[in-house]
Amino acid sequence: MRAGSAPGNRRRAIITALVLTVVILVGGFLLGHLAGSRSRTGLGDRSDLPKTSRDRVGPHARLALPPLPPRPQPITGPDRPPLPAEKGGPFGSRLTTGTPEIALTFDDGPDEVWTPQVLALLRDYGVRATFCMIGAKAAKHPQLVRDVVADGHTLCNHSWSHDVWLGLRDEQAVLADMRRANEALTGAAPSARISYYRQPGGNWSPVVVAAARRLGMTALHWRVDPNDWKLGPSYRIAADVTEQAAPGAIVLLHDGGGDRGRTLSALRTILANLITRFHLAPLPPGMEQPRPSGTDWFGRPGQ
Ligand SMILES: [Zn+2]
Repeated sequence: MRAGSAPGNRRRAIITALVLTVVILVGGFLLGHLAGSRSRTGLGDRSDLPKTSRDRVGPHARLALPPLPPRPQPITGPDRPPLPAEKGGPFGSRLTTGTPEIALTFDDGPDEVWTPQVLALLRDYGVRATFCMIGAKAAKHPQLVRDVVADGHTLCNHSWSHDVWLGLRDEQAVLADMRRANEALTGAAPSARISYYRQPGGNWSPVVVAAARRLGMTALHWRVDPNDWKLGPSYRIAADVTEQAAPGAIVLLHDGGGDRGRTLSALRTILANLITRFHLAPLPPGMEQPRPSGTDWFGRPGQ
């Protein structure tokens, strides 16, 4: 048994060593392969996973979000930036609203064709404006005056008959013209307060400005004038207004005095543009108080 068992023992020892070697090699290969697949699926390296429950805020937790843009400055309210200084219109007439609001103004109506269309468009956009009416036209179309007032717009006196040379006439003639126009407006809409006067053609004079003030009206000029009455293309009218619009601007447009089709077309663009950038408002009633007795037209005492 012993003679025959020595070679057998060697063979068993060699076979055992080979089997162990194969087992070690195969086992090492399998372990290495398993470790590799865990790494590829992210299971092998867990250093990127949240460490605490507070870190587990969802799949976007590791995205670096860009900072929020700064809030735009408010155009109304106590935090609004200061308005550009009012340089003043001709002879002390107003160029701006004195507030951040933009005021659209419509001259030379009421017109039976165009005023209702302008009103409808303003209604569509929820915008109120200021209408500078010719007294004689208001007397002819009192219902249009009432329609304008009913929609919340502000009235403005634009003289009795659009006299562009009213400023050259004497004090009594100017006052009489203004009063006549005011009576036509308040005759149509008794609740309306007439707090503004706009001189036809913008031909102001010291007499006209002072007469308006004496009747409790602010002399209303404008900052933005697209010259819509010159019948230029509507896109040019719209671009002039939208490019020149700024906080406080008074904008001059027309709802009477000729074919206002281009104005109406431009107004659609103007409203769509401006309501996204500004607050549009009618001029407030009562910016100017009647002249106290014992003062002159310029507010100086004793004359
Ligand atoms: Zn006019």
